[in-house]
Amino acid sequence: MKPVQKRRTIAALVALALTASAGTVQAWGDIGHRIVAELAWRQLDPAARAEVQRLLKADGDDSLPDIASWPDKLRDMPGKEDLGKATGPLHYVNFPSNCRYDAPGGADARNVVGGLEKYVAILGDRHKSDAERAEALKFVVHFVGDVHQPLHAGNRDDKGGNDYQVQFDGKGTNLHRVWDSQMLYTTGLKWDAYADKLAAEGPVKLPRTQANPYVQWAEESCSIVARPGFYPNGHSIDGAYVATYLPVAETRLREAGERLADLLNKTLD
Ligand SMILES: [Zn+2]
Repeated sequence: MKPVQKRRTIAALVALALTASAGTVQAWGDIGHRIVAELAWRQLDPAARAEVQRLLKADGDDSLPDIASWPDKLRDMPGKEDLGKATGPLHYVNFPSNCRYDAPGGADARNVVGGLEKYVAILGDRHKSDAERAEALKFVVHFVGDVHQPLHAGNRDDKGGNDYQVQFDGKGTNLHRVWDSQMLYTTGLKWDAYADKLAAEGPVKLPRTQANPYVQWAEESCSIVARPGFYPNGHSIDGAYVATYLPVAETRLREAGERLADLLNKTLD
């Protein structure tokens, strides 16, 4: 398929999935997004924390984990359908097979890299209204999570693994859902207990930040997807797969939490 065509098909599928799955799985599912937001919240410095609290309150929201999945719900929110539609492509990026980012840069890029550029700029702009900045905060929290979910920045023509059917626990599902939430559920932990467990593991060792960190995070995700065995043999997720890849998923959540905190600390101080 031509890139443009492919992008359209994926956008259509994401649109369909978003419409069909009120409150269910999109990128880490709610559990992953909440964990990332909670890990970040714990690492905010006092100034950033106060500003986050002020913006959330101005918008009638309670906590960072509570708003972390908001962009996935827009299409079902009265009055927000158009925003949901317009921002649909900003939840992911499609890579060529070599996992090198070759899309245009800047806030105009219609992918998760552009989404981060755009909403981080709004969040940091004190001339914007509180309402605009609160909305930007919700997108930033969500997109930092999304870009760390490997299948939101993959290099195959399978709609981020949504088209790749697998067997897991004796049931049919797809690889995207396995990574969104189903592997995380095998621990039996709820999001807050899961955040406790990951926080107790201490800071994760992050690679040196490159010129465009959002591109870097996306390329990391793609390189995970490109590992031999990421697409399981025989379309079957077994114990060995979970043993290998659950720690990878958890590391991505910790990295996302740490980087989100760092981003908010820098943007809001
Ligand atoms: Zn998303």
